[in-house]
Amino acid sequence: MALQFYNTASRKKEIFTLPEGVPAVRMYCCGPTVYHFAHIGNLRTYIFEDFLVRTLNYYGYKVNHIVNITDVGHLTSDADSGDDKMEKGAAREGKSVWDIAKFYTDAFMADWHRLNIQEPTRWTPATQHIQEQIDLVKTLEEKGYTYRTSDGIYFDSLKFPRYADFARLDVENLRKGSRIDMGEKKNATDFALWKFSPKDKKRAMEWDSPWGVGFPGWHIECSAMAMKYNGPTLDIHCGGTDHIRVHHTNEIAQSECANGVQFARFWMHGEFLRTASEEKLEDGTTEQKFGKMSKSSGEFLTVSLLMDRGFNPLDYRFFAIGSHYRNYLNFTWEALTGAKEAFKSLHKKTDPLIGKATAITSEAAKAFQNEFKDAIGDDLNMPRALGIMNTMLKSDIDDGEKAALVMDFDKIFGLKLDQPREEYAKKGANDEIDTAKIEALIAARKEARANKNWAESDRIRDELAAMNIVIKDSKEGTTWSVKE
Ligand code: AMP
Ligand code: ZN
Repeated sequence: MALQFYNTASRKKEIFTLPEGVPAVRMYCCGPTVYHFAHIGNLRTYIFEDFLVRTLNYYGYKVNHIVNITDVGHLTSDADSGDDKMEKGAAREGKSVWDIAKFYTDAFMADWHRLNIQEPTRWTPATQHIQEQIDLVKTLEEKGYTYRTSDGIYFDSLKFPRYADFARLDVENLRKGSRIDMGEKKNATDFALWKFSPKDKKRAMEWDSPWGVGFPGWHIECSAMAMKYNGPTLDIHCGGTDHIRVHHTNEIAQSECANGVQFARFWMHGEFLRTASEEKLEDGTTEQKFGKMSKSSGEFLTVSLLMDRGFNPLDYRFFAIGSHYRNYLNFTWEALTGAKEAFKSLHKKTDPLIGKATAITSEAAKAFQNEFKDAIGDDLNMPRALGIMNTMLKSDIDDGEKAALVMDFDKIFGLKLDQPREEYAKKGANDEIDTAKIEALIAARKEARANKNWAESDRIRDELAAMNIVIKDSKEGTTWSVKE
């Protein structure tokens, strides 16, 4: 069966191939905003994107996988108003915005590795691509798509007639409905490309530009960095479904107006992880309601919290495999416990096979492999792929072939099935503990403490904690261990 993915742009499954002469899949994924820890909902989206990259590799494609880090403080609402998220984070923690960005970027990458998500080809922090963003806004200005207000340079969405198509927006109603919040914008769907710093206040992050000192609007970074590393047309652009209506719609508008070509051939969106809350009904009873896990609501679960509760990060990865990426996944502790138990019983079958792989020669084993390839190639049907693995393990093909198929399938699952469960469980799923880095951090902390630089010594302790390393100070010195 041919490789196919559901394309949000057409609302259909489409066969995926690369255009002639394109050597690697040009892929861009919207990355984290680093003013807080990523929650396990955000991470569900990156796990889905990891299955996608692995599947493309399995089908023989190279992937130029770009993930941005939103470290410029954009504003709390999609409407370019509200507080700056990074400055809010800095005020909350009494740190500089740059320290906040560094700390949460490191924490994010630690989670990424704990979940065994493959390193992208390139991480692209927005603050390191300010010039590219300015250049893109200049192009849009030269082509007549922008206008100026007292607080910034805006994109005129009326000049892009296809604006509503991607998200199937009812633009008329949208524009009518939100007159109140428009400020000086001409249309409700217009958005900031460059914002001016307030005249009476120096911002923690601001840059010179042809329009005055300020900072980029939050949509422009993705277009600018996607183009820089993958050219004007992407093969696949990913993100969560919450980005369809505003962020991705705006990315398409500004990119296609600047370049005059299609911005992304495939758009793939991961559905939300939801958490339950109790809702009181009129008759006094309560009902469980599931809603999107969200960073700004303040109630969210992190990988570290799961580990504190005795789960391995890969238990969560296994949990994510159990539902298709385009379906909601409802999180409960019972459901995660169920996944952990199922993962343990999978290990009971695969651990005795470690190191026994032989060539895959029998027709029955080849049939399992083909079925598996069809399942992942059918819009990443991971639940079906897992079912095939279980059926294969129960079948009567010989152990050598079983072992070979487990290793083959784990190229997609990424569950580290080449290691017995007890072994990686002890190490918190980090099989490569970077001892040199840990020792260097401990030495730096010792120096900071000698200089009475408590802020720095706390920061290092936090950095180690984010790497899942616990330190203990005693008269003899500092020792460290991996958190169980
Ligand atoms: P953010 O750091 O908030 O910009 O989000 C990072 C990524 O996580 C984006 O692709 C979002 O669409 C995605 N995301 C946000 N909330 C959820 C959720 N509850 N479940 C799955 N993905 C999410
Ligand atoms: Zn983006």
